[in-house]
Amino acid sequence: MARVNPSAPLAIVVLGAGALETARRIQAHFAQSRVHALASRVNGEVPYDDFGAHVRGLYASGTPIVALCSAGIVIRALASCLADKGGEPPVLAVAQDGSAVVPLLGGMSGVNVLAREIGAALKVAPAITTSGELRFGQCLLAPPEGYALADIEQGKRFVSGLLAGETTRIEGHAPWLDDATLPRSDDARLAVRITPLATHDEDSLVIHPRCVLAWIGHDASNDDIAERVRAAMRERGLSPLALAALTVPARFMTSRSLEEAAHALDVPLRFCEAAPFDADDAHAIALHVSDAPVDAQSIGRARGMLTVIGLGPGSAELMTPAARAALSAAQDVLGYETYVRMAGPFRDDQRVHMTDNREELQRARHAFELASEGRRVVVVSSGDPGVFAMASAVLEALDAGHAAHPEWSAVKLAIVPGVSASLATAARAGAPLGHDFCVLSLSDNLKPWSVIEKRIAHAGEADFVMAFYNPLSKARPWQFDRAIEIVKQYRDWQTPVVLGRDIGRPKEALRIVTLGELKSELVDMRTMVIVGSSTTRVVGDWVYTPRWYE
Ligand code: SAH
Repeated sequence: MARVNPSAPLAIVVLGAGALETARRIQAHFAQSRVHALASRVNGEVPYDDFGAHVRGLYASGTPIVALCSAGIVIRALASCLADKGGEPPVLAVAQDGSAVVPLLGGMSGVNVLAREIGAALKVAPAITTSGELRFGQCLLAPPEGYALADIEQGKRFVSGLLAGETTRIEGHAPWLDDATLPRSDDARLAVRITPLATHDEDSLVIHPRCVLAWIGHDASNDDIAERVRAAMRERGLSPLALAALTVPARFMTSRSLEEAAHALDVPLRFCEAAPFDADDAHAIALHVSDAPVDAQSIGRARGMLTVIGLGPGSAELMTPAARAALSAAQDVLGYETYVRMAGPFRDDQRVHMTDNREELQRARHAFELASEGRRVVVVSSGDPGVFAMASAVLEALDAGHAAHPEWSAVKLAIVPGVSASLATAARAGAPLGHDFCVLSLSDNLKPWSVIEKRIAHAGEADFVMAFYNPLSKARPWQFDRAIEIVKQYRDWQTPVVLGRDIGRPKEALRIVTLGELKSELVDMRTMVIVGSSTTRVVGDWVYTPRWYE
């Protein structure tokens, strides 16, 4: 069953300006939510072009959807992807004027809870249609955090029984059911059973408290650890759903097999200096059963994660879902102020560390320090993080610092690519990078100007299309004109040049000029410059470099 991402930001989807006011009222109650708006009709944080494709994409990524349109439109759009009932995110239709809130999908992932919250925000009663929930005041099949439903099909039969007039007992401790209006009786045939034990009982709604900890005291890199944990639990009659966490010695921080085991068991992996309970060393796997659910976050610590992401050139639609997911999971976000603002808004529980653009190495070291404490850290770059950006700075910091800080090597490091400015600019202009090309930074902050001149000359001679990053700044006033002089020694003055400024941002501007017209007055630090090769051509408003060569 696919897991719904509980920290995924709410997508409030609107089709026209008429829905915007209601959308903003809902948004005000959900800190991390974004308004997704049909680009041709209305402005929102996330523009989209095709309603059906957009909501299907959101649905597939587990994002909760609040669509401000008729229920029918949403149902038709999602019809083709409704097979897996367990894995679906909450989906609601809300009337444009805010007069009706209709939960449609996601009963197992809290759609009715969300419907009530939105209803409260809009001051209307939500149209709850789930009969069990209406009758009992809550969804018996969606137990709270720390508990897991044993079997959804059995659960549905149980609820049908209650709806048909049966009564139930409660065995075990289920504090959240205190407020439910269940038809209780002590001698009922049916029972809600709260137990870590695996039971197959047709007359029970079995809910497992996540109250079991497993301690693996050895590095079992060659074993199937997940299977051995399941077997150890089976031996004691415990359901694998009752497992709260895998706990292991901190020295196994980088073990792939333990990480895979925790993933297979769908529980957190926590690192401790010693077993969090009295473990018998004779067993490779020790189990401990508590009376109540165990909060895994309170035991030992997680392996720290440092993810370097690229936001793309600016607009939300050019940010990859992987980058968005990393931001959503982040506890700490570091970066240059402009980019961190671009990556927001953030939840109250997320820490944001903004710094000056030039403090890159210091920022990278800070990121490692935070991640070494077990935190989930994201470092943001614009475009792609590996193109003149933070991914190299992070690896430089690791290279220089890992001997003095061995804990940095245990951090789980990941680089998430993004749409680089040259690619975004090229796409707006056509296909100027359609044949061999090179990218060059014209900044001589970190390399001597003589190297830059030499590379431009070689690229010119080799007939590469050239994409220039960092073309000009106040501190480097003459360099751009000098670079162009060199290019002109190898290219015709009619060669097409693409100038993309603030691509993907509100003030986006695209210009096509010839090499002869190119001068430093036309560019600044927010401009991407693409100089064609000898074969680059113009057709209508488009610039392209053909795939063939003479
Ligand atoms: N990592 C970034 C590049 C950082 S260097 C990327 O992959 O895009 C910064 C330079 O990138 C700027 O000086 C400018 O030349 C270019 N640039 C970045 N974002 C841009 C945008 N939205 N539009 C045009 N150029 C941009």
